[in-house]
Amino acid sequence: MLCFIYANSIRLYSYWAILFFYALKMNRKDFLKYLALLPLISKSMKLNALNELTNLLDKTEKMPVLFLGHGSPMNAIEENEFVQGFREVGKTISKPKAIICISAHWETKGTYVTAMQNPRTIHDFGGFPSKLYEVQYPAPGSPALAEETKNLVEKTTLALDEKWGLDHGAWSVIKHLYPNADIPTIQLSLDYTQPAQYHFDLARELSKLREKGILIIGSGNMVHNLGMVAWDRLSGQPYAYDWATEANEKMKGYILDGNFQNLINYKSQGKAFELAIPTPEHFLPLIYTLALKDNNDETCIFNDQPVGGSLTMTSVKMG
Ligand code: ZN
Repeated sequence: MLCFIYANSIRLYSYWAILFFYALKMNRKDFLKYLALLPLISKSMKLNALNELTNLLDKTEKMPVLFLGHGSPMNAIEENEFVQGFREVGKTISKPKAIICISAHWETKGTYVTAMQNPRTIHDFGGFPSKLYEVQYPAPGSPALAEETKNLVEKTTLALDEKWGLDHGAWSVIKHLYPNADIPTIQLSLDYTQPAQYHFDLARELSKLREKGILIIGSGNMVHNLGMVAWDRLSGQPYAYDWATEANEKMKGYILDGNFQNLINYKSQGKAFELAIPTPEHFLPLIYTLALKDNNDETCIFNDQPVGGSLTMTSVKMG
């Protein structure tokens, strides 16, 4: 019994020592934020959470940031050039400590971040083969990263969510980069009441996370008009309507030139953009990725192919 108390005291003191060590490295404001977390942690003796938190505070080499065109949920289980593209890009990135995904498929009023320990795999689609509904992606969550993300953002208030999980915008692509599902993954929701500028400004506040080994992934589609899909042209040669090609080419031009303001102002870019972005949820994850670019980042475009006339799988890696 005495030994047990002694061992626990040693362990507790060592965590305080770690915290003291980080206090020396952190600025006052950051330290106060973590100090505010402490009562929650020590109260329930969540030593694992504290371990995770101290691990998250370590600086790493700067992680790249991705926008992945996810397309059909069937890409989760099919073998094709797009999933090969995801796999290839995964090989060029050092293993992240955790992932934050901004998926087109989680729209909320207000901005939320998933904070559960074990996010469920959400099959948020209908009419697909049963094999697709059997897919599980059991990556752990990261309550500590959710808290850290919430605390980083000052221009708006982020709320912690315990109900969502990983939707197909997240798991159908991330599973190709990390098939072992061993990277803690959280999602950040899209506030559907807000304009593109809000999303850009919010994403900028997350840029510090790139230096902490966090891979930030926007998952959507640059050109995405499901109402105009040419169902008879889904297979065979890649096919795009003229307006889809025009919008996709203009978007790529703005991305490569760093002219992000034209993409934030997507509503005033003419007819091709109107058809390419009939609703904003698949486009906005790109805005997060762009906001996280810094001046030294190289931009690489991959999976640049149309599907069924009115979608493009065009994906972007920055850094
Ligand atoms: Zn989608």
